[in-house]
Amino acid sequence: MRTVAIILAGGIGQRMGSTVPKQFLEVKGKPIIVHTISNFEKNPRVDSVLIVCNPDWVDYLNDLVTKYGLSKVRWVVPGGETSHDSTRNGIFSLRGELGKDDFIIIHDAARPILPQGAIDEMLDVAAEHGNASLAIPCYETVIYTEDQKCGDRALDRTTIMRVQTPQAYRFSEILPLYERAEAEDRHDFVYADLVAIEYGMKVYFSSGFVNNIKVTRPEDIPLCESLMGFTEEQLFSRK
Ligand code: C5P
Repeated sequence: MRTVAIILAGGIGQRMGSTVPKQFLEVKGKPIIVHTISNFEKNPRVDSVLIVCNPDWVDYLNDLVTKYGLSKVRWVVPGGETSHDSTRNGIFSLRGELGKDDFIIIHDAARPILPQGAIDEMLDVAAEHGNASLAIPCYETVIYTEDQKCGDRALDRTTIMRVQTPQAYRFSEILPLYERAEAEDRHDFVYADLVAIEYGMKVYFSSGFVNNIKVTRPEDIPLCESLMGFTEEQLFSRK
């Protein structure tokens, strides 16, 4: 059984207001994407890494791979219009590479805080059920709204999980679902779990953690920097 991590770095990071896509901004002296890839380099259960990269940044990324000795990176493929298209490009480029018992892990390049225990638990749950996504219970009150200004109906928060990345799937189960989405010309799924649910697959949860931040806005950079000073135990505890 082999496991390939697909790192999504196809975006341009509009909300960051920077000319450099957010995954290439530096935190603690290294680009965010280098921190992200390193978390998979460290995990012995991950065999190789595929990066889906914004086409304008492929040369720069290849230089980073060499500079930081990221030895598990085997493929760099171009990103697409939407994050769904980028995920699809990554999955389709593994056709012919992976067999029926192999797994893929899909993860945002912009989430550099990822304890090893979280990867391990996800792979354990995926080995048992065929898939697993990091997710956390919802501790806030949840109110349904049509306009994000007001609402008059509460949702039962015990029925809600907040799903993050990474997400792991058995390759032979997720590939046909992306092929079906392609045949139906659907490009609007934000994450693989939504493709899975749309086409009738049950998605399983492994423990996520509140500080699994996706760097999105300028204020996330200092937050990310301080979180990098936390230990694995402070960031994550298994269910
Ligand atoms: O934009 P958002 O924060 O949802 O992006 C999540 C992840 O998906 C980021 O790592 C980003 O680089 C990636 N992405 C992508 N291709 C796109 C848009 C986003 O790989 N077209």
